[in-house]
Amino acid sequence: MIVEQLQCLSFELGIDLYAVRDDLLPFPLPGNKFRKVVAEAAAAGWKPSDLVITNGGVSSNHCRTVAMYAAQMGVRAHLVLHGDPRKADRNLSLQLLHELGATWSIVEVHEIAEEIERVRLQFSHSTNVHVLSGGGHTATGARAFRDVARELGRGLDVDHVFMASGTGATQAGIIAGLSEAGSMARVTGVSVARMRERGATAVKEALGWLGCEADVVFDDRHVDGGYGRSGPSTRAAVALGWAHGFPLDTTYTGKAFNGLLGAIDAGEVERGSRVLFWHTGGLMNHLEFLVDRA
Ligand SMILES: *Cc1c(COP(=O)(O)O)cnc(C)c1O
Repeated sequence: MIVEQLQCLSFELGIDLYAVRDDLLPFPLPGNKFRKVVAEAAAAGWKPSDLVITNGGVSSNHCRTVAMYAAQMGVRAHLVLHGDPRKADRNLSLQLLHELGATWSIVEVHEIAEEIERVRLQFSHSTNVHVLSGGGHTATGARAFRDVARELGRGLDVDHVFMASGTGATQAGIIAGLSEAGSMARVTGVSVARMRERGATAVKEALGWLGCEADVVFDDRHVDGGYGRSGPSTRAAVALGWAHGFPLDTTYTGKAFNGLLGAIDAGEVERGSRVLFWHTGGLMNHLEFLVDRA
């Protein structure tokens, strides 16, 4: 795990800022999904020439991570994607999935389960087929984060942790791991889409899988239009990161960073605090944002 001090940003924001660089795991596609997928693959016992099937949106980081890790393991990946098929022939995500040797079908949301079953039946007589739940929102995924956060927490002295939170398994794992390590850090999950009640409930559910009962801070003030959307304040946070050589994106990490900026402005994070920003990835989301605007 790579943890670094962000000196220029620390100075600019008046805090002591560190980052966990899960965006570099392994560069360039995956981010936090890598920890989840590696844990799932180990639990399911993926072997060369097995087939793994999973699902997600056309630009899902989970799906690209499965494709990339499967390629590294010599496993075939078939992705059941939903999204806009009209853009399919010149889509950056699909081109990368193709280069990674994955195959896919693009279906409507209500057809996903049926399509997964169809592909599973088609191959189950000739190879070992693993079906992995979309987004990696599983106990195994949360446990992967708990383990790494526990290890990090042993040597960690920070007041706050900030991170992007979607389905909540990553945040739950980090909360559980830090609490097991005895850290007093307050973990703020900045929502990328969900409103507080739904989002916090999902984080609590995932904490339950880990047998942890802790408070959940789920900040929905920076959703900025919803999943995959962004307005001027998210974009300004993303620009501030890039201007200091810290790559952020408008779907995930830019919202989390904007949440940190908002908390500093509101006095919820005091000047001089030690803050750990858990960078979860999202470079591809940023590249797609730039390409779509071009
Ligand atoms: C999926 C994802 C998240 C959110 O993770 P959850 O475990 O679903 O909360 C955050 N950042 C990036 C870059 C992601 O791809």
